[in-house]
Amino acid sequence: MFDVRGKSVIVTGGASGIGRAYAEVMADNGARVCIFDIDAGSLDQVVAEMTAGNRDVWGQVVNVADRPRMAEAFDAVAEKHGRIDVVFANAGIDAGPGFMTPEGERNPEGAIENLDDDHWDKVITVNLSSVYTTIKHAARHMKQTGGGRIIVTSSIAARINESIVGTPYMPAKAGVDHLVRHMAMELGAFGILVNAICPGPFMTNIAGGRLKNPADRKAFESQSLIGRIGDPEDIKGLALYLAAPASSYVTGSQIVIDGGSLLR
Ligand code: NAD
Repeated sequence: MFDVRGKSVIVTGGASGIGRAYAEVMADNGARVCIFDIDAGSLDQVVAEMTAGNRDVWGQVVNVADRPRMAEAFDAVAEKHGRIDVVFANAGIDAGPGFMTPEGERNPEGAIENLDDDHWDKVITVNLSSVYTTIKHAARHMKQTGGGRIIVTSSIAARINESIVGTPYMPAKAGVDHLVRHMAMELGAFGILVNAICPGPFMTNIAGGRLKNPADRKAFESQSLIGRIGDPEDIKGLALYLAAPASSYVTGSQIVIDGGSLLR
C-alpha cells in the first residue's frame, strides 16, 4: 500500500525544510529522487548527507522561475530514470511582512501602500507561476507513461483572510489551491492525481527563520490545538501517502496539516 520502491521522484525546493523531508521519506522508502533547488551550496550538502545514508538521491541547481531551465531539468530526470512518477511542487519563498503580527497587532510595514512591487512580483512568480510550470512539465512526462502523482505544497494561508504572512503570499497560495483542483479535473483522465498539502506553521528557514524566533514561535504555538508548531518530520507520513498506491482514489484534495490551528 505504501510501496514507492523504484519510483522516479522530483522535489522542487528540496534542499531545506519541508522539501527536504519529502525527499528523505521518498528515498528512505526506496524511491529514486532528484532535488531541484536554487541554492547550490545547500543542495550539495543535502545530497551529500542523503547519499551517505545510501539513498538514491541527486540534485540539479534549478530556479523554478526559469522556464527553459525547468524543461531541461525535467528532461534530464526522465532521461536518467527512464520516467517521472511523482513530482512535489514545493519551492517557495519568504512571505514578507504581514499586515497583522502573529500577536494580532497592526504592522504598518505590511500595509498595501508600503509593499514593494518587486516583492509582490517575485512571490507570485515563485509561489504560483512556478507551480504552473512544474505541473506543466510533470504532466508532459507523466502522460507518456500512463500516469503519476503531483503533490503541491500550498498553505493554510490560502484560507486566512487577514494577512499575517505577507499580502502576495496569500493569494499566491489560494491560486495554487485552485490550480490543484483544476489540474485534477484536467489530468484525472490520464491517470495523473493532483493534490495539495496545506501546512500550518512549520519550523523551517522560510520567512528568514522567523518561526525560530522565540517570540514569534510562542504566538504561533498558541494557535495550535496541540501546543506546538510543526516539524518537517511531521509531514513525511502525508507525503508518502499521497505518493503511494494507498491514495489511489484521492485527487483534487487540499489536505491541511496544521495541528488544528485553522480551527481557532
Ligand atoms: P525553506 O525556506 O526551508 O525551503 C524552501 C526551499 O526552496 C529552499 O531550499 C530554497 O532554496 C528553495 N527555493 C526558493 N526559491 C527557489 C527557486 N526560485 N527555485 C528553486 N528553489 C527555490 O521553506 P519551507 O518552509 O520548507 O517551504 C517549503 C514550502 O512550504 C513553500 O512552498 C512554503 O510556502 C510552504 N509552506 C511553509 C510553511 C512553514 O511554516 N514553513 C507553511 C505553509 C507552507
